[in-house]
Amino acid sequence: MHHHFITELLGIKDSHVNVWDLREEESHFVAELFTKPRMQKCPFCGERTKRIHGYRWQSIQGPAFTTKEVHISLRKRRYICVSCHRTFYERLQMIHRYQRCIASVQTTAMKHAAVSSFRTAALVTGVTVNRVLRWFDRKELTSSKVLPRVIAIDEFKGDADGERFQLNVVDVENRRIIDILPDRKVETIEKYLKSCDTGKVEMVVMDLSQAFKQAIRKALGNPLIIADRFHFMRQVYWALDEVRREVQKELPKKDRLRMKRSKKLLWKSWAACSDDQKKKVQQLVEIDARLKEAYDLKQALDTWFKESDAYNVTSGLEVCLEKLEASTLEGFHRVARTFKRWHQEILHSFMYPYNNGYIEGVNNTIKVLKRLSYGIKNFERMRKKILWQQEVKLVLKQAYK
Ligand SMILES: [Zn+2]
Repeated sequence: MHHHFITELLGIKDSHVNVWDLREEESHFVAELFTKPRMQKCPFCGERTKRIHGYRWQSIQGPAFTTKEVHISLRKRRYICVSCHRTFYERLQMIHRYQRCIASVQTTAMKHAAVSSFRTAALVTGVTVNRVLRWFDRKELTSSKVLPRVIAIDEFKGDADGERFQLNVVDVENRRIIDILPDRKVETIEKYLKSCDTGKVEMVVMDLSQAFKQAIRKALGNPLIIADRFHFMRQVYWALDEVRREVQKELPKKDRLRMKRSKKLLWKSWAACSDDQKKKVQQLVEIDARLKEAYDLKQALDTWFKESDAYNVTSGLEVCLEKLEASTLEGFHRVARTFKRWHQEILHSFMYPYNNGYIEGVNNTIKVLKRLSYGIKNFERMRKKILWQQEVKLVLKQAYK
């Protein structure tokens, strides 16, 4: 085997590291390596020197080849400075200071920890899970403290450190997660925002949460707040579902099951339904006047939502609100109250293009990271994993462009 090929297999990037010997033993491979002399810069005084002081053999854990690990013996060189006469070991990329494991193993483990579980990262690299966790916890990750022009805050169910929900702060225009906060309390959000440089923030996208709004006002003054479209339209679907369940309860058993299975069909936009589906919807809403009313209201809002633009959205919303208020259904009254309370923020969502793309991108990311962080109860570890995952994915994306 070519020596160069061996060092490459071992993930060694130092070009002056050479192979002395490689042999296979029953339980492992042994690779003996040595370094070629090189001009050094004294770490104490900065003088250049090539004078050798001595050698030391160092044992290093290498990567695993198939089922066998590689044990590396490295003959390290110690140099002596011609000026200050102090001695020092040569610097190598292949091994970090105070580590017993080759750097490429650690790098590989950290790469796997970004895209899969810590357990997988340990298995692939042949080290213990505890060691992977130690490396991971020690790893430094910096999140930007300068917030961009448009941010979004959104919660997700992360179940870390005894809090069910964690918060995601996102750079909407660049579709990047900026940071993860441990909970959704006003104080937490406020404290975070105050720790950042928020001079550039002009707009904030968020769901209809009074707590978020309060925190934003306290920390940022008066940025433009945009209601997240997915979140406010969800209220309408929930109101429809409330009616469906109510009607369902009063039905005979056979019809009850049919009604139960129709949730998605009733949620579907009328225009998107096939002829067959339209017929089914008509049959369903004939069953009960309340359901018919709820369905028609949902349709009115759905049409307004899909067909409005910055110019006609306000008048369209007025018409919808009148319909909602004239309704006999309590659930839709609630929708009307919410829409009135968030009137301006909802209108903003039609005037600025920071909605659908944002939702799709971030929801996807959250889904992946939820799966990834499953079982991580330690918030800091979860936060780091989410940010680290994003960083690795960005690098991969750029590499394959
Ligand atoms: Zn020196």
